[in-house]
Amino acid sequence: PTMAHSQALLVLENFIGGKFVPCSSYIDSYNPSTGDVYCRVPDSGKEEVEAAVKAAKDAFPIWSSKSPLERCQILNKLADLIEHDLEAFAQAESKDQGKTITFARTVDIPRAVHNFRFFASSILHHVTECTEMPTMGCVHYTSRAPVGVAGLISPWNLPLYLLTWKIAPAIACGNTVVAKPSEMTSVTAWMMCKLLEKAGVPAGVVNVVFGMGGKAGEALVCHPDVPLISFTGSTLTAQRITERSAPHCKRLSLELGGKNPAIIFDDADLSQCIPTTVRSSFANQGEICLCTSRIFVQRGIYSEFLKRFVAEAKKWKTGNPSDPTVDVGALISKEHLEKVRSYVKKAQAEGARVLCGEGVDPLALPPGNQKGYFMLPTVIAEVKDESCCMQEEIFGPVTCVVAFDTEEEVIKRANGVKYGLAATVWSGNVGRVHRVAHRLQSGLVWTNCWLVRDLNLPFGGMKASGIGREGAKDSYEFFTEVKTITIKH
Ligand code: NAD
Repeated sequence: PTMAHSQALLVLENFIGGKFVPCSSYIDSYNPSTGDVYCRVPDSGKEEVEAAVKAAKDAFPIWSSKSPLERCQILNKLADLIEHDLEAFAQAESKDQGKTITFARTVDIPRAVHNFRFFASSILHHVTECTEMPTMGCVHYTSRAPVGVAGLISPWNLPLYLLTWKIAPAIACGNTVVAKPSEMTSVTAWMMCKLLEKAGVPAGVVNVVFGMGGKAGEALVCHPDVPLISFTGSTLTAQRITERSAPHCKRLSLELGGKNPAIIFDDADLSQCIPTTVRSSFANQGEICLCTSRIFVQRGIYSEFLKRFVAEAKKWKTGNPSDPTVDVGALISKEHLEKVRSYVKKAQAEGARVLCGEGVDPLALPPGNQKGYFMLPTVIAEVKDESCCMQEEIFGPVTCVVAFDTEEEVIKRANGVKYGLAATVWSGNVGRVHRVAHRLQSGLVWTNCWLVRDLNLPFGGMKASGIGREGAKDSYEFFTEVKTITIKH
């Protein structure tokens, strides 16, 4: 028997009203790097969601009446406690999700800590508006109050990172929450629950209900006492959530998929551009909503770019995620791996060329990882813009490289998908960078860099990539209800 079989399975429990409570049925959760079941996740439904919403409602009066400073101190304490256990959290995230230990250590968990610190501080600095109307003898001002119980639903790609990006602003603003992490990556959320009491988070302020989207998630979306849903995940699920929440007129924030272009002009600094674009294509196995999957290269540098890009991609080592020298870990599930692979086959059938990776290079895995869900970074060229590989979100280590001639042409082609989340533009020409950035249909545009975020500024997508923005001011506005008050003197 493998280690996972000989060891007791990790069994998670829901966290409701400050207590861990077992569930009547469970879902198997796999270690993506070995293919073994190693954990059991509660298969919650209406009943568990009902109990969690009740606990959150009961906790609301006390939590919402605390001062921002009191809430700030509690959030900071929670950040310190997660940071203290950073290594344990990183190990757990890597095992549960398949991501490399290096990525979990340097990106996921530090960012989860930062999310709490950031919103702990930002909540202290908001100012509301005030206007005067002397001819009417009036002043007007706005006041903001927490909304109530927030429903938070997060995906599997950046589990604790994205969940805390919702929990932190929600509770900083004085709401109480019921969170539903992805059924595939629930462990770090459960670990965080163990720290809440010590941090001083009162019972019922943060409740976590584990389980499937269609069951636990939907019960939360349909609950009449949850006026607001913050969701990060796929566009398809967002459509379903929109439909199901419509009868209740819920407030929705939807952070969805992407098909993000990189536009590389012939004056780009390739020594910066190539390693960054390899990273933006393959970081976290390409399982980041912000990953690049369509690379447009100006014709004059196309062959040189392709040669150097493929050589750089081949340097990325795929293997055991807990090996600190590994760059590409395992994909989230067997089904997802098969889906990603099927896109490469479709591209080949359409006449595209696979330059490295899947089906081209040998994938050598350590003995313990033979049944894991691994795939090499894959570069596809000569693929048509209308191909599904250029139109649909693949969400794996696959990127397409194509040539373009003019600025006008590339803007049109870059905008020619249903998504509009993030883009990168590479050029030394300041004027061009501004012109192109303004015309791209994209919630975020990075020029000559990727994934550099200031949490103060809005984050979110256009078109099928989402509705609403999150960030210091945007999250504050989303998680509070505003009132305009007029005083006549
Ligand atoms: P998903 O939509 O399948 O699931 C996301 C979450 O929604 C999970 O917790 C799932 O259980 C839940 N869910 C599923 N069906 C539901 C329903 N009917 N009602 C309520 N909840 C339901 O997405 P995923 O596969 O976990 O994540 C990958 C997707 O997330 C990709 O499309 C990716 O681009 C997107 N994503 C977007 C961002 C962003 O910030 N824009 C960030 C990360 C990931």
